[in-house]
Amino acid sequence: MNLSYWEYKTWLSNIDFTIIGSGIVGLTCALRLKERFQNANILVLERGILPNGASTKNAGFACFGSLSEILSDLESHTEDEVIQLIKKRYQGLQLLKKQLGNQTINYSHTGGYELFTKNDTALYKKCLDKLKKINTLLYPIFDDNVFQTSNNLFNFKSIQPQYIINQFEGQIDTGKMMQALLHKAQTSGIKILNNCEVTELHDTATAVEIETNHFAFSSNKVLIATNGFASQFDIKNVKPARAQVLITKPIRNLDIRGTFHLDQGYYYFRNIDQRILLGGGRNLDFIGEETTVLAQTEIIQQKLEEILHNIILPDIDVTIEHRWSGIMGVGNQKNSIIKPLSSNIFCGVRQGGMGIAIGSLVGKELADLL
Ligand SMILES: Cc1cc2nc3c(=O)[nH]c(=O)nc-3n(C[C@H](O)[C@H](O)[C@H](O)COP(=O)(O)OP(=O)(O)OC[C@H]3O[C@@H](n4cnc5c(N)ncnc54)[C@H](O)[C@@H]3O)c2cc1C
Repeated sequence: MNLSYWEYKTWLSNIDFTIIGSGIVGLTCALRLKERFQNANILVLERGILPNGASTKNAGFACFGSLSEILSDLESHTEDEVIQLIKKRYQGLQLLKKQLGNQTINYSHTGGYELFTKNDTALYKKCLDKLKKINTLLYPIFDDNVFQTSNNLFNFKSIQPQYIINQFEGQIDTGKMMQALLHKAQTSGIKILNNCEVTELHDTATAVEIETNHFAFSSNKVLIATNGFASQFDIKNVKPARAQVLITKPIRNLDIRGTFHLDQGYYYFRNIDQRILLGGGRNLDFIGEETTVLAQTEIIQQKLEEILHNIILPDIDVTIEHRWSGIMGVGNQKNSIIKPLSSNIFCGVRQGGMGIAIGSLVGKELADLL
């Protein structure tokens, strides 16, 4: 790229910290660095025209795990690990709300609901059976019982007679959250360059040489916040996981309010602007969805439509307006990877399916590695 003296001097010289990725983690990390090092020159590089991973594509659930997800996590993690994970997600949500304000992100405390299909009788019974135990496990974090049961308030079809309600769950407007984070970063003096993909990093021990699709420059420290794309920089144990979503046109007199989980969190839906936003189905094709390609597939979109028409809105003529996908970062453990990769390169990746919750905390912890 034919950069001028002015362009190099103003945007690419004497950079203290370069953050790769402008999702919730990258932006929170940049803001935390600015708070700690007020005179630092901070640059965020983002390959998309808008952030292009998960932070602008998600469903906006302010959640920390449904009962069946917690039970499933307890099969692969210790009790203490699960408690710490939920605590971090909850603390992350508090931090996000404190940083941006409930009104700014349209936080709405609607409660979360877990539904079980008619075929899910075994899981339904297991969850009812373990509800008390999990409430006891989480009591020290919330000072209250998290889960309780309720009847089918919203008249969903083909589901078990009771839901499990999580009184601490809510929902946000994802676009408003990201717009507020970007605004806060820019007004704090943090520079953000979009359409700029980092292709190579080389730690020279005194600084990091950075190559992008447009130019090369150097920075004292580099913080990688690329989540599902982390393997590009040889970060192990993070795989991309695509998640597909659809949204309906506005529905007259829609009275469904809340965040809803189905099939151990593999499907999720919520109300937004008199519409239903519905996502999930990765479990139908785990291998095919282990990709960074933003696209939709027939098999998953058909299943989402089936759930929309047969379970959520069985008696309503509803039209789908829009579909999209985003890329998450997952691994065989649920905790995020926050660590140094060399003396001047650090990473904060693998937020899994609850990065709205944990993202602010990961961004802060990443910045605090320095
Ligand atoms: C469809 C969907 C629904 C979801 N629903 C929820 C939900 O309801 N609640 C919840 O808590 N979580 C949800 N999540 C997960 C949540 O969105 C993520 O965990 C979180 O946004 C991750 O944030 P991040 O900053 O780590 O990563 P990202 O937001 O993915 O940011 C990484 C950024 O790095 C950029 N990047 C990658 N490589 C490069 C490079 N080489 N150079 C420059 N830039 C690069 C990407 O373009 C991207 O913008 C959902 C995710 C998806 C996809």
